[in-house]
Parts: sequence; C-alpha cells; structure tokens
Amino acid sequence: MANKLRKGLRKDEWNITLVDREDTHYYQPGFLLIPFGSYTKNDVVKPIEKFLPTGISLIKKDIFKVDAAQNFVLLSDGEQIAYDILIIASGAQIKPEETAGMKDKLWHKEIFDFYTLEGAMALHQYFSTWKGGKLVMAITEMPFKCPVAPIEFVCLADAFFTKKGIRDNVEISLVTPLPGAFTKPIATEMLSRVLSDKNISIIPDFYIEHIDNEDKQLISYDGKKVPFDVLAIVPLNKGADFIEASGLGDELNFVPVDKQTLQHGLYKNIFVIGDAAALPASKAGSVCHFEADVLYENILNTIKGETLEAKYDGHSNCYIETGFGKAALIDFNYETEPLAGTYPIAGIGPFKLLKSTWINHIGKLFFRWLYWNILLKARPMPVSNHMSMAGKKTVRP
Ligand SMILES: Cc1cc2nc3c(=O)[nH]c(=O)nc-3n(C[C@H](O)[C@H](O)[C@H](O)COP(=O)(O)OP(=O)(O)OC[C@H]3O[C@@H](n4cnc5c(N)ncnc54)[C@H](O)[C@@H]3O)c2cc1C
Repeated sequence: MANKLRKGLRKDEWNITLVDREDTHYYQPGFLLIPFGSYTKNDVVKPIEKFLPTGISLIKKDIFKVDAAQNFVLLSDGEQIAYDILIIASGAQIKPEETAGMKDKLWHKEIFDFYTLEGAMALHQYFSTWKGGKLVMAITEMPFKCPVAPIEFVCLADAFFTKKGIRDNVEISLVTPLPGAFTKPIATEMLSRVLSDKNISIIPDFYIEHIDNEDKQLISYDGKKVPFDVLAIVPLNKGADFIEASGLGDELNFVPVDKQTLQHGLYKNIFVIGDAAALPASKAGSVCHFEADVLYENILNTIKGETLEAKYDGHSNCYIETGFGKAALIDFNYETEPLAGTYPIAGIGPFKLLKSTWINHIGKLFFRWLYWNILLKARPMPVSNHMSMAGKKTVRP
C-alpha cells in the first residue's frame, strides 16, 4: 500500500508513514519449505527498507494502541503519530502460550510450529536426524493464515521421508477442528483423495483442549486422544495486541470491517488490509494483493470525498504443494468455492485448478521471485483482482 499510495498521492500534500516493529520482511509462504531443506533463512528474509520508495517515513517501533477517536497512533515509547487516514496491516501472529501444554518443555524440541522462522528452522534440525515414528500435524483453531499450509506440510513430509527411504517407518496424520481436510466442499473432496492416496490419515472435528507433554498426546475437549512422537502444530492465530488495547477488535483481535470496501464501520478514516481484518476470506498473501487494488481506489475516493466505489469480492488463490514436484491450485471468492478448470487464461492455463501438476509447482516456486520483485513493489500484474468464472467448470472434477 505504501508503494501504491506513494505513486498515487502528491508528495507536497501527503506524508506517508509506515510503522513496523521489525526491520525484516518475511516471505512467510517460504517457511513451509524450510523444515524439508528446500529453503533456508536467506530465501525468506529481506530488510523492509529495500521495498520502500523514497518519500516514505519508516518508523521501527512497536505500536501500543490506536486512539481512533483522536486520530493518532501511540507507540510503546510514548510517541504519538497523528493521522488523517490509517491503514491497519498488522497481520496475524501465533499464540502457542494460549493452549495448555503447547509452549511447554517439548516446545521446539518435539513440538514445532512452522509459522515462525525459528520454528521452521528448529523442525528442519529435528527432521535431519529423525528415524521415524508418529508425525502428527495439528491445527488448533480457525481462522489461521494459509488454511492449506497444513495439507501442504503433510504432503511434503510424505515426499521427504519417501526420498529419505524411511517412509514405511513414518505414520503421518492431520488433526483438524474442521469436518475434513479443508473449509470448502469440492476442494475438500479433491484434497482428501490426495491425502488418502499418500496414506495420510485425517482426524477431523478435533478441538485441542491441551497437550500432554509426559505421554506426548493431544487431548480434545471431548476426551479424544492422539499420540505423537513429533508434533507440527498451527497454534491459535490472533491479531496484534494493540488491536485489543485500541478496542477495535473481535475476540481474536481481528478488526471487523466492511467486507467489500475494507472500511471500518464507525471510523471512516480507518481501513484494514490482510490478515488483520476479520473477514470471511482466507488469511493469505493473495488476499492482501487483491484487496490492495480495492483499497487504493477507496482511499483515493475518500480523499476526494466521493463514495467508495471499489468492492473486494473475497478473491483468493493458493498453490497447494502436493509433493514430488507437483502442486494444485485453488481460486475462489466469497460466493464461489474452488472449482476445476484453468487459470489465469480460460482454456489455456497454464495452471490447472484442483489438479496436481508440475506446472502448478513451478508457479509456486516462481512466486517467491514475483513476491519480492513485483508484488511488494506494487508493480502491475496482468491478473484481475476480481475472481473470474472464465475457465472454470461448474461440474465436479
Ligand atoms: C507457513 C505459511 C505459509 C503460507 N503460505 C501462503 C501461500 O502459499 N499463499 C498465500 O497467499 N499466503 C500464504 N501465507 C499467508 C501469508 O504469508 C499472509 O497471509 C500474509 O503475509 C499476510 O500479510 P499481512 O500484511 O496481512 O501481515 P504480515 O505480513 O504478517 O505483516 C504484519 C506486520 O505487522 C507488524 N506488526 C504487528 N504488530 C505490530 C506492532 N504492535 N507494532 C508494529 N508493527 C507490528 C509485523 O512486524 C509485520 O511486519 C502463508 C503463511 C504462513 C505462515
């Protein structure tokens, strides 16, 4: 947004300030590949400054709260930053400490997240000497960022341990609070087939109450137990603490906004983009990208005092690594669930929706370059921010 707005707003009229407590920007989709040795730290971190154009003030400090009534942001050191327009883009963070027994004595020893660089690197270290046993991938609660990442994780684990020659010694299961592998029925059907072909079991409707570190098992609220030797976990995801301190969030500190305009209901000069928003869309980088075009238009309209014309339709797409050099792709929005077909060009592709193909995998790998070089810098992309039905089949694959 900083890149888009700096290009679109006059420098003598608008100051743009970006506040972030980190110096580093992380390519979070790359965290998934670190446990399996395909990526290292160097592939996923770059300084934030590298992506900012001239004419942006970057403040590297922690935000304490937003005073939405008085139009200022209060930083943890007491500094106040007044604003005319505020965009909240503080993402979602993992909160392993909020589930009993998760951040306990096995944390980053036999219980690992891969949603942080530290967790992904610790798991890589662990896998490099592991001889096999029960590998459990578990999801704590919805919503969490990249809802397909756990499915990708188990598929990549299957391929990794097969190539290592120890797959017969590794029992892989996916424990989820959902009734199946994914949130949408047609994609769930396709992904369930992929998992069962790989001999990966799904344990659905499992809500983790606590993790028993002594007997190494997950315990659900209704008393079910799943034992593990090594546990990969998606901890509870929550919005930033300052959202709670500002009184702007829901019970998980995500900010409710209009699902089409991305504008706050009460404070019309506050907008939210990305994982920080409480929307019925995936928490995914693709969502941030498609939302950004809408938000840019709506901010220009706000400045001109015009009605907000641009509408976000919930468009999201995601490559899903299925292992052995293949990936599937899903493309959907608020109204339409993932369907089979081709993307982005109808009838041509080159990407195939709801199918595991080599070219989809190449797309996923190419994405990192695209992210660093095109997306973050807000360079134009020949793909519409609205989901298109062109190339989609409305019958089940
Ligand atoms: C393992 C994994 C795999 C993924 N795979 C995919 C994928 O294949 N495709 C896809 O589309 N998406 C994927 N995602 C999701 C994607 O990475 C996120 O949806 C996206 O990065 C969200 O962007 P954001 O700008 O909303 O938040 P973030 O990129 O998380 O940025 C939030 C920023 O806010 C800052 N911040 C937070 N609190 C404060 C504070 N108090 N003060 C100051 N600064 C603060 C943080 O430092 C951070 O820089 C994946 C995520 C993970 C973890």
